[in-house]
Amino acid sequence: MRMRESERLWEKAKQLMPGGVNSPVRSFRSVGGAPLFMARGEGPYLWDVDGNRYVDFVLSWGPLALGHAHPAVVDAVTAAARGGTSFGANTVGETELADLLVQALPSVDLVRLVNSGTEATMSAARLARAYTSRDKVVKFAGGYHGHADMYLVKAGSGASTLGLPDSPGVPQAMAADTLTAPFNDLPALRSLFAARPDDIAAVIVEPIMANMGFIAPEDGFLDGLQSLCREYGALLIFDEVITGFRVGLYGAQGLWGIEPDLTCLGKVIGGGLPVGAYGGRAAVMEMVAPSGPVYQAGTLAGNPLATAAGTATIRALMEPGVFPAASARARRLADGIAAIAQERGVALQVGCEGTVFGLFFLNEPGARIVDGESARRYADTERWARFFHLMLEQGFYFAPSQFEVAFLSVAHDDEIVAATLEAVERAFSDPALRMRSAG
Ligand code: PLP
Repeated sequence: MRMRESERLWEKAKQLMPGGVNSPVRSFRSVGGAPLFMARGEGPYLWDVDGNRYVDFVLSWGPLALGHAHPAVVDAVTAAARGGTSFGANTVGETELADLLVQALPSVDLVRLVNSGTEATMSAARLARAYTSRDKVVKFAGGYHGHADMYLVKAGSGASTLGLPDSPGVPQAMAADTLTAPFNDLPALRSLFAARPDDIAAVIVEPIMANMGFIAPEDGFLDGLQSLCREYGALLIFDEVITGFRVGLYGAQGLWGIEPDLTCLGKVIGGGLPVGAYGGRAAVMEMVAPSGPVYQAGTLAGNPLATAAGTATIRALMEPGVFPAASARARRLADGIAAIAQERGVALQVGCEGTVFGLFFLNEPGARIVDGESARRYADTERWARFFHLMLEQGFYFAPSQFEVAFLSVAHDDEIVAATLEAVERAFSDPALRMRSAG
């Protein structure tokens, strides 16, 4: 068989970049095969360098809420570029984006723009530590908050209170200040607090876990989290890098009526260009330099192209009816996939909120995934790999990992939903997906 252009390019890329990629999630390691090189995107579609067209459910891992190359975004970025790509000084574009964020999130009085989600979560932790004069930060096992040292910590078995580095190069001392608890488990969190009532600066949470597959909070979990943080004087940090402008126009905090002390944003707020943000109550945010002593800076922070793309994206999403229509289509797709799975005897757990959805192939019919541990135990990565390739062959691009979620854009219309469901139906008739029936 003739070598595809993607394969040829990957061979070259591997000689120049670790694993031939610039972010490990892009490699096809967990599904097998060579990662695709993309040439172009438009609306809901992506084209690879071999000329194949795909319906894109990755959308750059979330940011492209309007789809690829949306005219409003392209125009805004082009106009901004013509006026100069970076000044390292104030621009009106920064204030416009900040204004949209503050208006959308009642918990946010002040916001600082940065370049990535990683910067946002890292800076939020520094601020929380300074505000509380405490060092420990709690995260939930399986939650991803970017790649700063302190967050690359998982809960090893029996080590839910002991930070253990997840990656070589993370100093033990750094990891030791990160405590982990299981998601959806308030008693475990209470125990952590009770053991160290005066040590915990903050609890950081993805209000819907979306980096371990799609795991929704159970009733009362987020409220309980807020109460515990208040009881012990710790700050509650919502990492809404994925959920922001995705699960609702007012974030997960809007859905559940929670006012976290700090919120981290990224992805959609940059509309496909590099932006992150952290913000919160004025009393906390006023501690950030130059208002206060907590240092955090950025050469390209609030970059004119990035703020233009983010502002154009959020404004278009906020147009009446746009977001609800996209959410309704995501719901229809998720419900449709669940119904096909049921019909075909494929054990599948489906989650959906706003324009995000997730599919877990279960290795035990009837199992329920509620946290990182149950995801590791019950998610069937082999079936995901099979599903991924069956969909790819039909022109539908899902994330090359069972532990990622899928995204819809406003450009994914009814026809695409219908075509996707037909493709899923064909995929689910594959014996390898049906082997373990839902019973
Ligand atoms: N927080 C969450 C919830 C994320 O999903 C991610 C990235 O996927 C990050 C933080 C880090 O963002 P970035 O990749 O922009 O550094």
